[in-house]
Amino acid sequence: MNLRIPGPTPCPEDVLAAGAAQMMNHRGPEFAQILRRVTDGLNWVFGSPTDVLSFTTSGTGGLEVAIVNTLSPGDRVLSVSIGSFGDRLKSIARTYGADVVGYATEWGEAADATVIAKMLDDDPSIKAVLVTHNETSTGVTNPLEVIAKEVRKRDRLIIVDAVSSMSSIPCPVERWDLDVVVSGSQKGWMVPPGLAFVYMSERAWAANAEAKMPRFYFDAAKTRESLAKLQNPWTPAMSIYYSMDKAFELLRAEGLEGIFTRHEDVAAYTRERVKSLGLKLVPVNEQFASNTVTAVWWPEGIDAKAMSKRAREEFGVVLGGGQGKLEGKIFRIGHLGWFQKSDIAEALDVVERLLTEAKATA
Ligand SMILES: *Cc1c(COP(=O)(O)O)cnc(C)c1O
Repeated sequence: MNLRIPGPTPCPEDVLAAGAAQMMNHRGPEFAQILRRVTDGLNWVFGSPTDVLSFTTSGTGGLEVAIVNTLSPGDRVLSVSIGSFGDRLKSIARTYGADVVGYATEWGEAADATVIAKMLDDDPSIKAVLVTHNETSTGVTNPLEVIAKEVRKRDRLIIVDAVSSMSSIPCPVERWDLDVVVSGSQKGWMVPPGLAFVYMSERAWAANAEAKMPRFYFDAAKTRESLAKLQNPWTPAMSIYYSMDKAFELLRAEGLEGIFTRHEDVAAYTRERVKSLGLKLVPVNEQFASNTVTAVWWPEGIDAKAMSKRAREEFGVVLGGGQGKLEGKIFRIGHLGWFQKSDIAEALDVVERLLTEAKATA
């Protein structure tokens, strides 16, 4: 199968084989070495001066870690949402009692940093800004560096969902002066689902000391304390750590520049091919089109479900569908993690063929 959904993504055989290794004592010296190497790898990719924490959960669990460890019920936060994952982050904050002010764009658009700056100026009580780096549902990447500068100038916390960007496109947490940044193992990391990664700045740790939202399993301070002894507070998803350890060998061999360039090049190729088929991209402004996932409108009158079914059953290509209000209207092609240009070309060949056939029978 050519699995082209934007996560979980295909994993290299070596990474899968590493995950099949025998269990060991999760508080013993052997696992401590693995946890050290994996954490070093995370620090390298995040560009973090301190140890990035890992939690046994999916990306959404990582987002919950970010919220409950830095905020208190009643805290006013600005949710910047450009799609369904932005909405999810907002829901988590609401669920735990944050007083959420919303800034939502039309889906397909990126957030405007000047709007965020104005909202922060108008309301000094806003304590934190929640923002998605790469909105996987619409294939749009927010201008995070610019947004972060505006938030920083006004001295609020910036909490970032980088689940589908970190390790695929640049998101250097220290250089961009971000506060809380979350990713998950099943996206660009080339590893199965099961681990979420959370960076916290000094400002985020200061907020943590005051934060009153309830937490037990997802307690960042407890997790940091355990990590100092090269342990997890609870039994972690050890097999996923084994796989991460192997994945870092591959990531380091390619190097960050190489990884970023591969994503950039193949994303540009994907967009050009899609446009040459007469199809329209979901991102309104191509400048903000994502380098990890391309979202495309199906033409009017196309049965999206039938197309995806044929792609999967007849050609072995699994396309991503639309989420929420985009269901049945768009398809998405993931190009993140472990892929080559030929995988994407094959998926696009299939889309082209199905569209040509649909036109012929229309
Ligand atoms: C995949 C993803 C998530 C997390 O989803 P899980 O299914 O919980 O791993 C969060 N945000 C974005 C932008 C994502 O792409």
